[in-house]
Amino acid sequence: MILKSVSQLVGKTPLFDLQIDVPKNSHIYAKLEMFNPGGSMKDRLGQYLIQDGINQGKINETTTIIEPTAGNTGIGLALAAGTHHLKTILVVPEKFSFEKQQLMKALGAKLVHTPSEEGIKGAIKKAMEIAAKIPNSYVPMQFKNPANPAAYYYTLAPELVNELNQPIDAFVAGAGSGGTFAGVAKYLQERHPAIKTVVVEPEGSILNGGLAHAHRTEGIGVEFIPPFFSDLNIDQVLTISDQAAFNQVKQIAKNQGLFIGSSSGAALAASLQVAQELPENSTIVTVFPDSSERYLSQGIYD
Ligand code: PMP
Repeated sequence: MILKSVSQLVGKTPLFDLQIDVPKNSHIYAKLEMFNPGGSMKDRLGQYLIQDGINQGKINETTTIIEPTAGNTGIGLALAAGTHHLKTILVVPEKFSFEKQQLMKALGAKLVHTPSEEGIKGAIKKAMEIAAKIPNSYVPMQFKNPANPAAYYYTLAPELVNELNQPIDAFVAGAGSGGTFAGVAKYLQERHPAIKTVVVEPEGSILNGGLAHAHRTEGIGVEFIPPFFSDLNIDQVLTISDQAAFNQVKQIAKNQGLFIGSSSGAALAASLQVAQELPENSTIVTVFPDSSERYLSQGIYD
């Protein structure tokens, strides 16, 4: 097939049956989301947020898109906005990866930095302040827009089910905005009611009752409970240390030739723990949101 728009490259990512030592002869299948054109699963979200804004009449040809983001949503949004020739302003806490920020700029987005210590809450506040000053601006606000879980409910989840075509015992995935987890978990629970759903967070995230603090695992971890979780049945929250996540990142590059980001490393570490707790020959699915290549400057393999 010959393509004419980068938007046609979004989604339909490969599903990988990891050939690693999994406890109890179980299998871990990972959706390789780094194969999206912007390098992460958030390209799906970018397309959905822009299309949803257009459908609702909130975006026209002269609208400026403004969004607080840890980076990957910014890249996905800038990609989608670019195909509609829309201006984009992304509000990013300084600590996030240099590579992601370069890619957002390469796509024509304007970047505004907020202090790292103010976290994503600081970026959200700043994005709203900027939007109040720019006429005809639109903030998709991934942290509460129902189009966020919908993007995964209608794309990634059905892909998983069709590709695997067998019962799924557990779904394991990280949460930042919580959109991926909520959308996919809901879809899978409708089809496999007995499925175990496990959220992955780094130390420094609050889901297991810990205090919010900085962590090196990028893209996951929450400072407030995602609103998408309020009507969702979550069986377990696993807190994975940065060290455990980065160990998996290194192992999987050596053993499988896969370059995965730290949130993928955390998802893998958690999937291995879940395998230990489930019966023999279980099927576990997870999501590898992006590649380690966008974290090389942060010493992901050091
Ligand atoms: N991993 C990475 C690398 C991400 O950028 C994100 C998004 N912040 C996530 C995981 C979590 O995705 P979600 O926002 O859908 O919870």
